[in-house]
Amino acid sequence: MNAIDEAPGACSLRRTPRRLRSAAAALLLALGLGPMLVSCETAPISGRSQLILLSPGEEVKLGLQAYQEILKKEKISTDPEKTALLARVGARIAAATGRTDFQWEFRLIENDKVVNAFCLPGGKVAVYTGILPITRDEAGLAAVIGHEIAHATARHGAERMSQGLLVQAGLAAGAIAAGSSGRDSASTQALLGALGAGATLGIILPFSRLQETEADRLGLIYMARAGYDPRAARDLWVRMADASAKMGRSTPEWMSTHPSNASRIRDIEAMLPEALAIYKPR
Ligand SMILES: [Zn+2]
Repeated sequence: MNAIDEAPGACSLRRTPRRLRSAAAALLLALGLGPMLVSCETAPISGRSQLILLSPGEEVKLGLQAYQEILKKEKISTDPEKTALLARVGARIAAATGRTDFQWEFRLIENDKVVNAFCLPGGKVAVYTGILPITRDEAGLAAVIGHEIAHATARHGAERMSQGLLVQAGLAAGAIAAGSSGRDSASTQALLGALGAGATLGIILPFSRLQETEADRLGLIYMARAGYDPRAARDLWVRMADASAKMGRSTPEWMSTHPSNASRIRDIEAMLPEALAIYKPR
């Protein structure tokens, strides 16, 4: 056991019991996903170890499915100014990630009531017009897009799904040990159901606090590399918190998965020097 394995948040696959690992592998195969090829990954910039059981190809496939399903249901904006703004900000942030393997796509969805934005695995980004009054200007939009793209480049959706798979595998392995059929257990059915809606899994699962902090940090770096003042991210979160307070019970979608609070804004302020050191205004 080396020091890295003991670090907080370190990849724990090697400490995962063999029975659990084989149950997770069996679940992946039963779901029509590939064999458990990928285990320990490293997040970009932060260097954090991650436990990921899906291959990048499987992850991108799920992301693309979800994206297509969502676009079928939504109205794409044809507003030339707003569309051009999103295309410009998107291209600059995408270039800052260095991910030329992503099939980047940016769509503005016409719905002023929905305060939301997301980036699916593989670089499919959707922004709802309802978030634009809060992002306010180009740098504010860059803050939202930088944060969302960071979730995708750091494979946070796949990480969440992997954690879910291990939990389910644990329940299934427990059921087998108890003498019942693991395959028909309620837990396995629940997982199958979840992955049946799995196309949207990356969206409906909230990210963990650790992932949120990581996406904030990466987002600031992407902004700075793209020539956007990273301080605009702090201002964006302050406006988002104000908007959320004003909206009361009808919390905006983006806020329900991205709670803004004093500690988040403080954390961003503490991360700003790192981003400001590489920021060159364009
Ligand atoms: Zn987030």
